[in-house]
Amino acid sequence: MGRPRAAQKTALAARRTEGYDALMTIRKIAHIGHPVLRQVSREITLDELNSEAVQRLIDDMIETMRDANGAGIAAPQVHEPLRICVLEVKDNPRYPYKPNIPLTVLVNPKLRPLSEDKFDNYEGCLSVPNLRGVVRRFGELRVEARDRHGEPIDLVARGFTAGTYQHEVDHLDGKLFVDRVEDPSTLCTWTEFERFHREGFLEKAQAIVAKYGG
Ligand code: ZN
Repeated sequence: MGRPRAAQKTALAARRTEGYDALMTIRKIAHIGHPVLRQVSREITLDELNSEAVQRLIDDMIETMRDANGAGIAAPQVHEPLRICVLEVKDNPRYPYKPNIPLTVLVNPKLRPLSEDKFDNYEGCLSVPNLRGVVRRFGELRVEARDRHGEPIDLVARGFTAGTYQHEVDHLDGKLFVDRVEDPSTLCTWTEFERFHREGFLEKAQAIVAKYGG
């Protein structure tokens, strides 16, 4: 209800230029075992998307992801079971082999694999502290969603970038990467990954980036 969407947009834009960003908050991240991570999140309407609460949630998700050096974060990870996720990879220290991804906000995303082709990804998650494991992911995907302004997004993601999209959208369906680990003997802490698995995986990672260009 209330003001038409155009007016709301202008109001939000005005607040941003007035230092609205200064109000961004780092939110608490839910950890494995919290029921919010196991819920199927609900879609949001364009009116909800334009609300101050949801625009602030998106700003906070970006801030929280950056603070924790995540490659992405989904709304249920900050205790909001809504179909929103954000991704960004900028020379990420947690995942130095991952190609960069510009800041992307996905609202009500839908993923469609473009082939049966899959690769092994050594994943981690801000909601599963100090654990990594190998997960099979589709190598090429079509991503359809809305951005934070409600404009359509339609893109193709490949390789590690496609893996990051799949990981984040899984969160919206109540799934964690550990559910998809086929070989539990690949599970390791971050320290043991560095000691015993990093080198072997970096070789594979180079081959993945060469194959998919992402
Ligand atoms: Zn995650």
